[in-house]
Parts: sequence; structure tokens; C-alpha cells
Amino acid sequence: MKIEKDTVPTVQFRIADDKGRLVQDSRDPMVYLHGGYDNTLPKIEEALEGREPGYQTVLALQPADAFGERDESLTRTIPKSEFPPGVKVGGQLDAYTDDGQPHTYFVSKIKGDKVLLDGNHPLAGKALRFHLKVVSVRAATAEEIAHRHVHGEHGHHH
Ligand SMILES: [Zn+2]
Repeated sequence: MKIEKDTVPTVQFRIADDKGRLVQDSRDPMVYLHGGYDNTLPKIEEALEGREPGYQTVLALQPADAFGERDESLTRTIPKSEFPPGVKVGGQLDAYTDDGQPHTYFVSKIKGDKVLLDGNHPLAGKALRFHLKVVSVRAATAEEIAHRHVHGEHGHHH
């Protein structure tokens, strides 16, 4: 079966940076509803459109086509005293942006009594290589299409 609108591909993937260093390996393959439902990057859908199980490719993407450019307005410096004890680099914090939108920040650095927060996606601003391999393809169910996401194994459970 070919990948087309309203199919559910199962795709193994690895993400490397532009120097070939591995940044993410798929322990679980990606299983998504194909067809512009915003379940994966548009460039990935474009590369997989019409492909069949066994197809492999390496997709080199600029930051704008992957996880976006970095937005420096999403960085914050907060006194360590405002954190509960045990604040660690890599920890997450839900806070608000300058224009009042809820947003998740990561602790990027702890410097003396200051904590640096970064609200960018950890892979923002990076050119990335996606190694993709199509494992299988099935038709989506009517319920999945109505919900705009996959159900069952690796999908939403509800
Ligand atoms: Zn659902």
C-alpha cells in the first residue's frame, strides 16, 4: 500500500545534526495519520507521499522546515531563590511569555544564583538530517480521520 492522504504509515527514524551527530533515535517508530493533519513536519509528509514499505531516505532540513528558528525573546533569567530546591538543567517549567501566552520553558543553565530558562524547542535553530524508513502502511479508520490522529498502538488512547 502506498502512503497517501488518510493512510497511517509506521516510520523508523533517526535525527542527526548537520555534522552527522545523532540527536534522537526512535525507540518507538513514528505512527501518524498522513494527509496534512499537522501530525508530523510537512517536509516529512512531502518526502513520504506515494512511497511504500521499505522506502528509505535521508532528508536534510533547514531549521525553518524542522523545529523553527530560535526566538531569543523566549529566554528568561530568574533568581534561583524563586525556584523550589532541586532545580536542574533540563528541567521543565510552565510559565507565560511576554505577551501572556502559556509556554513550556527548559532550564538551560544555572549560573551562580541565576537560572537561565529557554522556551525554544531543544532542536530549534538546528539544521537536521532525518533518516526515515517506512516499515508499514495501513488505511486509517473513519474514527481516526474524524479525530485527525491515530488510535491504538503508539497512538492516542481514549
Ligand atoms: Zn482520537
